[in-house]
Amino acid sequence: MKFFCVAFFILIISFSFYHCKKENELPIVKDSLFFTSNEASIIFSGDTTQPFTFLNASLPNDLQILQKKSKNVKVPNDTTLHLYRRMLKTIKQHNLTSIAAPEIGINRNIIIVKRKDKTGEPFEVLINPVITQHSNATTIYNETCATLPNNYPASIARYNLIFVEYYTIEGKKQVEMIETETASYVQHAITHLGGGILPTTQDPLAFTGQEIDSIMAKPDSIAMRILLTTNYQDSLILRKQSINVRPDSNDIVLKTLIKRMKKALDATSGVGIAAPQVGINRNVIWVKRLDRPGQPFEVYLNPKIVMTSQNTILFNGDGCLSIPGITGRTRRFSAIGIEYDLLDGTHKTEVVQGTTMSNFTSVIFQHEIDHLNGILFIDRIE
Ligand SMILES: [Zn+2]
Ligand SMILES: [Zn+2]
Repeated sequence: MKFFCVAFFILIISFSFYHCKKENELPIVKDSLFFTSNEASIIFSGDTTQPFTFLNASLPNDLQILQKKSKNVKVPNDTTLHLYRRMLKTIKQHNLTSIAAPEIGINRNIIIVKRKDKTGEPFEVLINPVITQHSNATTIYNETCATLPNNYPASIARYNLIFVEYYTIEGKKQVEMIETETASYVQHAITHLGGGILPTTQDPLAFTGQEIDSIMAKPDSIAMRILLTTNYQDSLILRKQSINVRPDSNDIVLKTLIKRMKKALDATSGVGIAAPQVGINRNVIWVKRLDRPGQPFEVYLNPKIVMTSQNTILFNGDGCLSIPGITGRTRRFSAIGIEYDLLDGTHKTEVVQGTTMSNFTSVIFQHEIDHLNGILFIDRIE
């Protein structure tokens, strides 16, 4: 009986000692699974009903965070749960298909995706997700990203089928096969965890930084400078082949280019202008429609001559805003079939005639479309 009491006493002592030791160990643990105070300050900057603000990949400081590789998190964990709830609020508020923690400034492996493959399309959280296997077959998706608000969708190849290993918010390990669109959402989000972002230059039609700088340098009420063949640098641009633009009524850069081209044209007595003449090698032209009532100026995107008449004429009095003081007699088709896009993306086909001095619309189109191919009217003088 005495022996039993002592043994019991020792047991209690050792148990409480063990417990204390465990507690004292906590502060010295340097485990990346624990949130840093900086991370916690972002996560707890608001309650669970307040969405986060997205980083902006065009800002150098934000880009630095977006390009960092994220670390795993611990689950179940109260801070992780708070982070998840606010991310959920954010994805719902913006009606997105995916969100990754780095996009809101937390370099941690947490993503939420819209499960388009499940009834009700619920938002599901994937903690520390890893793609363990994937199909060889891919599908191209046009993706946008919340951290690139002003960019065109980038065409990205995503695996059709993936196996993903991840933890639930309760800390339960899952392995799941995910297919089609939902698989693309997961791949987009996981790319963020690796420090990747959508390639901003993937879209071959996206305006380059240099083009944006030059177009957006002044407000749309200010004319762009008209390039002249007498300037060597200008002449190189005027002789370059231009490329298409992506029609988009919401594209501020494209709309500004169109307006500033028109302002440049308005300052002259010209009947047409092509984008290379303002230093932008893009397929955009303004044409005065001498064949229409009121002779309005109209803008055409990506115009192409797809048909020409057999008959040609010699047009007396061709001239160009980029070649001041010179006019000439050029060989032109009497009629042309053209295709073009409108700003809202409508594709049109049209036959244009007019080679008389009162209506030479066909000649204007031929002159302006020539500019897009680096051809000047002096090349056609006979
Ligand atoms: Zn994104
Ligand atoms: Zn011209």
